[in-house]
Amino acid sequence: MTLPEIEADFAALGEPKYRAKQVFEWLGRGVRDFEGMSNLPKSLREKLKANYHLYAPKVLQKQVSQIDGTIKYLWELYDGNAVETVVMSYQHGNTVCVSCQVGCRQGCAFCASTIGGLVRSLNASEILDEVLFSELDSGKKISNIVLMGIGEPLDNFDNVMRFLELVNDPLGMNIGMRHISLSTCGIIERFDDLAARDLQLTLSVSLHAPDDETRSRLMPANRGRGVEKLMEACKRYYERTGRRISFEYAMIDGVNDTEYHARLLAKRARTVGAHVNLIPLNHVEEREFRPSTSGHMKAFIKILEDEKVNVTVRRRLGSDVDASCGQLRRKMQKKNA
Ligand code: SAH
Repeated sequence: MTLPEIEADFAALGEPKYRAKQVFEWLGRGVRDFEGMSNLPKSLREKLKANYHLYAPKVLQKQVSQIDGTIKYLWELYDGNAVETVVMSYQHGNTVCVSCQVGCRQGCAFCASTIGGLVRSLNASEILDEVLFSELDSGKKISNIVLMGIGEPLDNFDNVMRFLELVNDPLGMNIGMRHISLSTCGIIERFDDLAARDLQLTLSVSLHAPDDETRSRLMPANRGRGVEKLMEACKRYYERTGRRISFEYAMIDGVNDTEYHARLLAKRARTVGAHVNLIPLNHVEEREFRPSTSGHMKAFIKILEDEKVNVTVRRRLGSDVDASCGQLRRKMQKKNA
């Protein structure tokens, strides 16, 4: 809750305003229960216990990369479910990659998060907790957020919007929208709703293939929607918000990394004014796909550059700590099974 929201509740409970501020400060410090709010009178703590629910996620696993310091957390939620958060350090600050669902129903063929389907969506405070507790536990001030962990943000729209409001709160974590990226597999029905919020965040579209045949094979979300419609939605989003879209493109050996794909991708990116972010595929044990060879990647990049597309290649961080999409949670599931 924001401070004004707590103040409104406290007014209704007949509590003075400064008590709301105290509670708000405790929450920002990651207090684990109402008992821990030691400057509140016992009667108020009892009242809070009776009327509110407070839970702090527990660290089930924490892995720190020996190579680049990337930290991967596996958190236990109030109901025993688990999600992952990754903290990555760059020169310009620390980025946290958060999950927004337990599992995912989108079924992308290369992704570990979707094996086992969707269990449930996270509520806004659970997503906020990933940022807060990553910062508190790691001691690294978080300056950037990517919604690129487990789950599909546009499939959990209201909670994600509320999370953005909370994490952006100047009295709270105060992370600016320009420092936040939201990644989607292309739930185009929601693009206009997102544009209407007029947020300054970056919309990343997981494209991964510029043609329907390849994309529908990799991403069930493409079936019944199609690349053409996705491009229209992207273009409209760009026109309405003035915010350049980013295409995520995981390079998969022999699947989406040919000259044909590069040329069509260049055309798509130019039409939409999108930036292309190439990602070497992370191999997932249960999946047949392999990353493209560096030779193929180089040729692919050259075509995009020759076609005047703005292209970057994502650095691999945390490769020794299962830091990609759903891999840690997946390991725990397998162990439990
Ligand atoms: N559901 C959202 C956000 C979560 S996935 C989306 O689809 O965008 C974050 C990014 O990681 C997406 O671009 C996704 O396609 C990509 N990804 C998933 N599995 C991957 C893998 N094995 N290797 C590389 N990228 C992967």
